[in-house]
Amino acid sequence: MTSKYAYTPRTDEWICIHPWSQLAITPTRDLRLCCHVGKSPPLGSLDDNSLEELYNGERMRQVRREMLNNQVPSECAKCKRIEDMGAASPRTREHTRWYAEEIRDKYIRTTQPDGKADYSLKYWDVRFSNVCNMSCVMCNSVWSSQWQKHSKDYTKNYSHNQIVNDYNLLWMRHQAEYEADQKIINNPDFKWVDKYIDQVEIVYFAGGEPIIMPSHWYILEKLHEQKRFDVQVKYNTNMLKLSHQGKHVLDYWPDWPYELMVIECSLDETQERAEWIRYGTDWKRIEQNCNQAVQAGVRVQPIISVGAYNILRLPQIIEELSELAQNKVSINCVYNQEWRLELIDRTERLNLIDKLTKMHHYIHDPNQLDQIYHKLQLPQVPVDDKGINMLIARCALLDTHRNLNSMKLFPELEQINQRLDGLYEKKRREYE
Ligand code: SF4
Repeated sequence: MTSKYAYTPRTDEWICIHPWSQLAITPTRDLRLCCHVGKSPPLGSLDDNSLEELYNGERMRQVRREMLNNQVPSECAKCKRIEDMGAASPRTREHTRWYAEEIRDKYIRTTQPDGKADYSLKYWDVRFSNVCNMSCVMCNSVWSSQWQKHSKDYTKNYSHNQIVNDYNLLWMRHQAEYEADQKIINNPDFKWVDKYIDQVEIVYFAGGEPIIMPSHWYILEKLHEQKRFDVQVKYNTNMLKLSHQGKHVLDYWPDWPYELMVIECSLDETQERAEWIRYGTDWKRIEQNCNQAVQAGVRVQPIISVGAYNILRLPQIIEELSELAQNKVSINCVYNQEWRLELIDRTERLNLIDKLTKMHHYIHDPNQLDQIYHKLQLPQVPVDDKGINMLIARCALLDTHRNLNSMKLFPELEQINQRLDGLYEKKRREYE
């Protein structure tokens, strides 16, 4: 749902509605501005402060002052970068929410000079834990407990010298050392859920994998019990499981109107390639679960994370996933240096632009393709680029421990390997 009001950004301020309306909680119980802030420090921890203290805490008040003074807070660099490309950013999209007008008029305009403000927690972005059943290539231990587990296995047999002299192994050890166990919330405090449930208009469940998190079930059951079928509920799920501990999502999801329950499922490929990209998935099971949800009248919407591993097949993938979900798809551009689109041969990238421009009717928000078009046109990446070397070394390390061969599955990556004089084979010998 978008607002019926058109919004023209003012030139004397750089406003996002999130600091007055969004609740974004990370697996470490930190409060942050939103999911786009990257590695920026959090606004504070819910372990040390109440939600109310943090929401009008020092940094939050400063962010509001900066925005009202036409300055871009450091947390918001990604939105600024996207807008500088001429594309719609998460910030500009937030202004089209049906409640954006109310937030601007009632809360933003009444902000006090020191940044203190009333707020209404309309959007909950809840990621209570990094518990996950997959280790997807573009992810890491912060968001996936499986990455932490696998990276421990993958690094245990290498010497200290080998690890510190190989930036790929070093990255992997960094994943292994992430103290995720302490950060998984087994007994979350749900008082704030009960307190603010009347304000909420959107709940976004992500993780980790929300379907296997007890906290997700607490909120879903609460909304269901209170018949809050007016709340827009959005998931980011890998769709591998529909049930957990005797509860099945299809006993809940179909009670919401079709347009208000959105199951965004992270699917970027099909068959074996999907199983390589999202390690731990089972493509047949994914197909079954998608079909089951679609038949139950639930809106399934694939979200495709576009990286070097799938860009060349993107037009076919869009069609195949759209058919599976019987719905349009969403696009998410991957920025990690080792999976970024510009690592692929530029001529091949340029050939895609024409095909993709004919596919806008398959895309939920065609503006999402603007970032992809921008990246497809970037110059050829040189062979001494760190990311391109990391990509091939990462493939070699993962394949060594998983007994797979990504170069056969992804001819476009093999093409890069050849540009790097067979780095994959060299690295596999080193990692064996
Ligand atoms: S401007 Fe962008 S990064 Fe900043 S809070 Fe809004 S959506 Fe998040």
